[in-house]
Amino acid sequence: MGGRGSGRLWHWDTRPETTDFLLLDVRHLSQRGLLQPRSGFSWKWLQDGEEVGKVWVGVGHGHITLNYRHKAGGSDWQSYDYPVALLSQPCNYGGHRHWFACPARGCGRRIAILYGGPIFACRSCHQLAYPSQREKSFQRYQRRACKIREGFGWMTGPCDPWGDRPKGDARKDLQTVNK
Ligand SMILES: [Zn+2]
Repeated sequence: MGGRGSGRLWHWDTRPETTDFLLLDVRHLSQRGLLQPRSGFSWKWLQDGEEVGKVWVGVGHGHITLNYRHKAGGSDWQSYDYPVALLSQPCNYGGHRHWFACPARGCGRRIAILYGGPIFACRSCHQLAYPSQREKSFQRYQRRACKIREGFGWMTGPCDPWGDRPKGDARKDLQTVNK
């Protein structure tokens, strides 16, 4: 093998995702080895075979930079380019676990999934931005996203953004509560 990609720090691969909601899952990106500092990639979403979204992601030390265009209703395309903090923590069983910090002003929540729209932000920020009438379809998106994630076998719980069962003391607490 010629080692295609060996020493390749900058790889602008396009990876189509079939989903009806634009989301970036940090675990998915990490599993695919896309979060190496000083690299980058593009990510695109398809719906019924049509491209519905595309983002260029630059990976730095401790952050990623999102670069994309968004068009709302009849308005013109707007270009966006902003950083999102990328947090990492060593795992007990080796490697690192990553999170994004929600880039929405005043939020900064530690999250695994960024939901797309005019901005990429956490689920709570999107629910604030799109109240009740959007909630139903949002839940549908979520169920769909969960299904996709289950298909990849990433998750231990169906919709838990953290994806982990309680460990150690947390588990003990749960047992105590259940007694
Ligand atoms: Zn947020």
